[in-house]
Amino acid sequence: MKFFKPANLNDFFEITAKIKKNIYFLAGGTDINVQIKNNLLSEANIIFINNLPELKGIYQENDQIVFGALTTFRELINSSLVKKHLPLLSDNLQNFASPLIQTSATIGGNIANGSPTADIMPLLMILDANLIIAGKAGSHQININDFYHGYKQNKLNKGEVIKEIRINRDALTDVSTFYQKVGARKTLTIAKVTLAGLMKITHGKIEQINLAVGSLNEYARRLPQLEAYLTGKTKQQINLEKLKTILAKEITPISDLRSEKEYRFSVCLNLIRTFVE
Ligand SMILES: Cc1cc2nc3c(=O)[nH]c(=O)nc-3n(C[C@H](O)[C@H](O)[C@H](O)COP(=O)(O)OP(=O)(O)OC[C@H]3O[C@@H](n4cnc5c(N)ncnc54)[C@H](O)[C@@H]3O)c2cc1C
Repeated sequence: MKFFKPANLNDFFEITAKIKKNIYFLAGGTDINVQIKNNLLSEANIIFINNLPELKGIYQENDQIVFGALTTFRELINSSLVKKHLPLLSDNLQNFASPLIQTSATIGGNIANGSPTADIMPLLMILDANLIIAGKAGSHQININDFYHGYKQNKLNKGEVIKEIRINRDALTDVSTFYQKVGARKTLTIAKVTLAGLMKITHGKIEQINLAVGSLNEYARRLPQLEAYLTGKTKQQINLEKLKTILAKEITPISDLRSEKEYRFSVCLNLIRTFVE
């Protein structure tokens, strides 16, 4: 196993260009150190990215709130900018892991690791967050809802890194929101089901609704068919059987040591009903 420690992004691009394969990044290390410790990455080239200044900080740029990918969960929770404009994030990530893990774990790492249970994903998905991906040839933007294509599979190419996460500063204006992570306990728990929701009601009708779930498919995702069904409806027009049928098409819960698939389906349905009804 080899370690590299770039001082800035240019340095990072130089190093990654010279390595042919088995490249892994170490940001906060809370996921990857577990793999290193268990000898799962013996041939790995580990690039320590925690020094890259271009990936740090939370700030406002025009109408966007920008999070460097190295932002830790503790920094996010404590940020006055986030509390002011995007309290959905600061309020609901309070119980992420434990206080100790929060000081190391980065949001870029949570996104890149891509676990279906990762806490931040459903929130970023309903907020339509954009990821800025940096590579030697330049940067490009990809919406978080288009970033995954399989279990822990994302669209990063070799030598690319998540640089920033950008969210519209006014994403929460005039909307009601919902977030619930259901686990065995409140903290230090892996989600069995997570639902995040954002809804705008006009004249008693749902004008816009964004719903995203975690732990119910091979990666977290929005529920576009359900969103389409609910849009334009009043509470009274929502048909429970129809809701169930659509949900069954959009989620594929599994049974594992944490819970049964039937339980996961029912909990998800109940959370959606709690939010929309
Ligand atoms: C005790 C414990 C409790 C936990 N509890 C929770 C929890 O409650 N909820 C939850 O969601 N997770 C939890 N986790 C998992 C973990 O803390 C998070 O996934 C964390 O956000 C990972 O970030 P990191 O900086 O530590 O990533 P690292 O371990 O440094 O990296 C993880 C992966 O992401 C890649 N990567 C990192 N940064 C970037 C980047 N900027 N661009 C591209 N790729 C990148 C790396 O190559 C690596 O493959 C827990 C972990 C532990 C050990």
